[in-house]
Amino acid sequence: MKLSDINNADVVIVGAGNAAICAALAAKDAGANPVVVETAPESERGGNTFFVAGSTRWVFNNLDDIREVLDLSADEQKNVDFGTYSREDFLEDMGRVTQYRCDPNLAEALVDNARPTLVWMRTKGIKFEPMYKGQSQKVNGRVTFFGGQICNFWGGGPELSASLFKALDKAGIPVFYETTAQSLVYEHGKACGVVVEQGGEQYTIRAKAVVLACGGFQSNAEMRARYLGPGYELAKVRGTQYNNGAGIQMALAIGAVPHGHWSGSHAVGWDRNATPYGDRAVGDGFQKHSYIFSIMVNANGERFVDEGADFRNFTYAKYGHVVQQQPGMFAWQIFDQKVEHLLRDEYRIKQVTKVTANTLEELAGKLEGVDPKRFLETVKEYNAAVQKDVPFEPVVKDGRGTTGLKVPKTNWANTIDNPPYQAYAVTCGVTFTFGGVKIDPTCSVQNVAGHGIPGLFAAGEMVGGIFYFNYPSGSGLVSGAVFGRLAGTSAARYAKQA
Ligand SMILES: Cc1cc2nc3c(=O)[nH]c(=O)nc-3n(C[C@H](O)[C@H](O)[C@H](O)COP(=O)(O)OP(=O)(O)OC[C@H]3O[C@@H](n4cnc5c(N)ncnc54)[C@H](O)[C@@H]3O)c2cc1C
Repeated sequence: MKLSDINNADVVIVGAGNAAICAALAAKDAGANPVVVETAPESERGGNTFFVAGSTRWVFNNLDDIREVLDLSADEQKNVDFGTYSREDFLEDMGRVTQYRCDPNLAEALVDNARPTLVWMRTKGIKFEPMYKGQSQKVNGRVTFFGGQICNFWGGGPELSASLFKALDKAGIPVFYETTAQSLVYEHGKACGVVVEQGGEQYTIRAKAVVLACGGFQSNAEMRARYLGPGYELAKVRGTQYNNGAGIQMALAIGAVPHGHWSGSHAVGWDRNATPYGDRAVGDGFQKHSYIFSIMVNANGERFVDEGADFRNFTYAKYGHVVQQQPGMFAWQIFDQKVEHLLRDEYRIKQVTKVTANTLEELAGKLEGVDPKRFLETVKEYNAAVQKDVPFEPVVKDGRGTTGLKVPKTNWANTIDNPPYQAYAVTCGVTFTFGGVKIDPTCSVQNVAGHGIPGLFAAGEMVGGIFYFNYPSGSGLVSGAVFGRLAGTSAARYAKQA
């Protein structure tokens, strides 16, 4: 099929990441014939979704709930402590980490639809697995999960993407690659198509309904500087280079209301020498997420954040900003031999900015850009402040903190005195932006007058109002899936009546 063959499609979907593909599959389920346009070439398809580790979050109160999503062996059912994660827990995590700003209707829609949506994805061939790495530890001989998160999309981003595209193929939904949506067709107060560019030609795809699911604005340096703040144009981007805010701008141009935390984004500690955008071979390997067992120092040789304030799940997505605010926009994570065995896999990749030393003095000389004298004083002050009488327990918030420091460490504080020492240099890696368009729980895009724009639906990163300041780990994919599915269903229903 060529673009010029499309004659008033039921639903046109912009983007081919997780949210968009869930929208396309749901629209098809609801009886529509969707078409998908994607700006990337086929060889770079998948958007940010391709880069994910794949962790995901949903409500489970017992083993029956878990088995709806995960195939567990008899041994796992008997011997693994998965814990529980209630509706209230998920809602509270959303509220707490967003400083109670998340849109309550969207938060409820996310929490209540998360598990049913993942179950629906299974029917489309998407597979899940228990997330032992990074989310569980042996406690008294029993594998025990912590942080309310037990599940991964099987095979991470590459396999998730492959399965989503396979599902599109199976459903007979066409995808037009290297086809960039530029603007919406807006007539008589309704969205009724998209203007796209392909091969240097412009085409108008008329459609009864449009779903925008084409990402945030994190890959657009100018928008990062304008909205996230000065210096953000220099930040690394963890994933795709194609999420340039085009969908948000198209929607705003026809009166959609900007919504959410426009100066906020999901941003992590990311290798200081990582590529400017994600590297498909490295995936999320540039992240450095064992900082809870480290001390982090800046160019002045000083600590600047409570590394152990909470589980990684609830701090990693905001600590990229804290690193961004430091002089020179970098930090070093320092570990000693005692915690080396707790470091996540990403610390062992080839593409890593790492130094090692047998003494703290030697280490001080190797931390590029750091004041060595002040660094040594910082370690001394920190070591003296560690509450050594409180036992160290990596899987619970152990309360083994520091006393009397200007910047405390609340949990998992260990002295740094057991060589050899290791240090890793990080900068800010932006994952996705939080500001976007306003939707209601049917994913209808709201206009400045407070009404839905007929024919226009949105999902995924480009929706504002869900995340503010921070993010509970594993919420991006499930949010894209939940709202993608709702958007596709709503668009198909709308198209039927149009
Ligand atoms: C390194 C990394 C690790 C992550 N790990 C996790 C994780 O473990 N768990 C989790 O839940 N989340 C994770 N995330 C977040 C997750 O990737 C996103 O929340 C989610 O994939 C976003 O889905 P989406 O469909 O909105 O966007 P995308 O998957 O980015 O899809 C948007 C698509 O739109 C296309 N597009 C953009 N502009 C246009 C245009 N004008 N015309 C046509 N097409 C366009 C893009 O090319 C892209 O394919 C991670 C992200 C990164 C970068």
